[in-house]
This record gives sequence, C-alpha cells and structure tokens, in this order.
Amino acid sequence: MPSSNNIYDLDQDEVLQTLQVWGQPAYRSSQLWDGLYRQLWDTPEEFTSLPKELRQQLSASHTCPRMDPGKFPSFSHLTPVRDLKSSDGETIKTLFSLSDGKRVEAVLMRYSSRRTLCISTQSGCAMGCVFCATGQMGFLRNLSSGEIVEQVLYFARQLKQQADQVTNIVLMGMGEPFHNYEATLAAIRRLNDPHGFNLGARRFTISTVGLVPAIRRFTTEHSQVNLAISLHAADDELRSQLLPVNRKYPLDQLLSACLEYTQITRRRISFEWALIQGINDTSEQAHKLAERLQIFRTGGANLSHVNVIPLNPTQRYTGKASTRERAVSFKIILEQAGISCTIRLRRGIEIQAGCGQLASGSN
Ligand code: SAH
Ligand code: SF4
Repeated sequence: MPSSNNIYDLDQDEVLQTLQVWGQPAYRSSQLWDGLYRQLWDTPEEFTSLPKELRQQLSASHTCPRMDPGKFPSFSHLTPVRDLKSSDGETIKTLFSLSDGKRVEAVLMRYSSRRTLCISTQSGCAMGCVFCATGQMGFLRNLSSGEIVEQVLYFARQLKQQADQVTNIVLMGMGEPFHNYEATLAAIRRLNDPHGFNLGARRFTISTVGLVPAIRRFTTEHSQVNLAISLHAADDELRSQLLPVNRKYPLDQLLSACLEYTQITRRRISFEWALIQGINDTSEQAHKLAERLQIFRTGGANLSHVNVIPLNPTQRYTGKASTRERAVSFKIILEQAGISCTIRLRRGIEIQAGCGQLASGSN
C-alpha cells in the first residue's frame, strides 16, 4: 500500500490500491480522483458522493495533521501564509508553508487570455547561480510530487471561483526541476491526466540550469512538455562565474545534449538569458551566442529560440539590468544571424515575483 499520507502524492493506481486495501470497489477511486482533480475539493467533507465511513477513513489517514482546530480537516499539506499582489493586480505571489515548516513560493500571472502559474520544485536550490535569490538562500529540500501539484490546485481553486482556469504552468519557481526529476515529472503526469486535471502536456514548460544527464533522460521520455535551458552566457569562463554548475557540465556538453534533444524529439528548445548590464549583454556575447546556436538551424528549420529578460534585482548580487536599448541591440544581432529572440516583459518586480526573485519569505 502506498505509504505517503499526502493524497496528492499518489497517482491514480495508488489511489485505487489504497481503496482496494480498504475493501472499496474500483469506482470509488474514480469518484475520489474526480473530486480531487476535477471538482478541486480539498476536504473529505466535500466528497458527498462517497459514503460517510469512507470520508471518515480518508480524514483519519490522509488529512494534514497540522490543520487549524475548528476547521474541517483538509487533504492539503500546503498552508498559504501570505499573498502579495502587484499594483496592476495581474500578478499574485503566494508564500506557502509546507508541513515541516519549510517554505516555498508560487506566482500566478494573468496575461490577456493566459493564466500562467510559475511553481516551485524545491525549497531553496543547490545550484548557487549568483544572480538568483533562490540560489542565494541555498538548498533546503526537494518537494514531493504532491507538494508540487498542490501549488497548482491552490490557484486553480481561486480561478474556478471566478469561472476561470489555469492555462499554462512553468516550472520556473524555486529550485532546479531536474535536481528533483522524479517528483517533477510525476507531478506533471498527474496534472496532465485526462481523467483528472487534464492540462495538456504542451502547456507545461520545464526550465533547467543545464543538468546534462537529466536532459538526456528527458529526451528519452519523448514528452510534449516544453524545455527551456537557462544559458545566460556563451563562453565557459563567464558561464562558470554566473552559474557554478557550468564547471560540471560545460557549454559544449550542454549544447550537444540540447541538440540531441531537438534531433530526437523534433521539438524546439528555448534558451533563457537574463541580461546583465556590461556582463552578458555585450555585442561580443551576442555574436558568440548566435554562432553557438547555428547548430540548431538545419534543413530550413530553426529549433532554438532565445528569451531575453532584463535581470531582476536580488539582495546579494550587484549586477544591474540592461537598458531597453542594450536588449534591443542584443536581439538584433541574434536575428541578423538567423536566431529568433523575444524580449520578455519583467513582471511582478515590486512584489519580488519576477524570475529569480523567489525566496522563502525573507523578502
Ligand atoms: N532552476 C531552474 C528554474 C528556476 S529559475 C533554472 O534555473 O532554469 C527560473 C528562471 O529565472 C531561470 O531561467 C533563471 O536563470 C532565471 N533567473 C534567475 N535569477 C534571475 C534574475 N535575478 N533575473 C532574471 N532571471 C533570473
Ligand atoms: Fe537554482 Fe535556477 Fe536559481 Fe540557478 S537560477 S539557483 S538553478 S533556481
């Protein structure tokens, strides 16, 4: 019988097994799954389609022991601690406490028709990228698949009340998704399940700092999930200064794993680039990048795309964001070399909800 007492850690088979051990017929597990992932119920009380004894059994075995007395026991192991809203109201950042008191943040961004969630896979991060607030706080622990899933369900419930829904999920919050590979992929599978939450695989984007063995493994999954690589520098010297993991997996190795991914999956890969004034926004870096990305241009197709974003400020890094003009010049150099590039908008900066600004509530 599955051991986790967080029901969101279980896949559909494990829910079935659990209920079978309790002597329940199979259709009860479909009802439970439907309640969790379609109705978005999070207290056993709400599952009125289930017999009372089963609700009580679920309550005893799978609700969070930390729940406030006086409230119905909840399946949720994440407690929202604080919401911050941007001044235009379109970005909301929520700080959650996990059941052991560790903390993570997630962000909801409303674009015109999109409702994009940026979620975390770890509390803290072990990769130590110098310009990233999560990297600056160090690694605390991996999230379980259920803890990743719950961040999504939390916002999905809020949106549902407004007759709205999550349209896209980016794994670009706290942590390195490929350093917590199993749980991350399990969470995506659970949210992708057509009998449950049913968000299409192409609506997800995993962003990685460039863990080469995990990129190779991901390639073999033949997944429709989008892949983004945090590149930020076009030579090993600069990349190792900014992203220490580059010493382990230097650019040649990284880009050859990326090329293999595009060749095997025929899917485009995105490269992320936080523009830092005078450091990686120079024409020299732009030309080097353009040259390195030529390998993705084959047979008339270009299977790479560069997203540049002016650096977001963090407490322990003194580098500054590039100006708009520098960002535009960078983009022009890439485009003249046949590499597509988008300058992304900075969002939620004033509530520290921008890329690389998530930390465990110290800000
Ligand atoms: N660990 C993963 C995903 C989380 S970070 C990764 O590194 O890809 C999400 C994105 O924010 C990454 O592209 C990361 O490089 C970028 N980022 C980190 N700090 C930033 C900052 N201060 N300003 C802009 N982008 C930043
Ligand atoms: Fe970790 Fe990504 Fe931040 Fe680097 S940029 S420290 S990998 S969260």
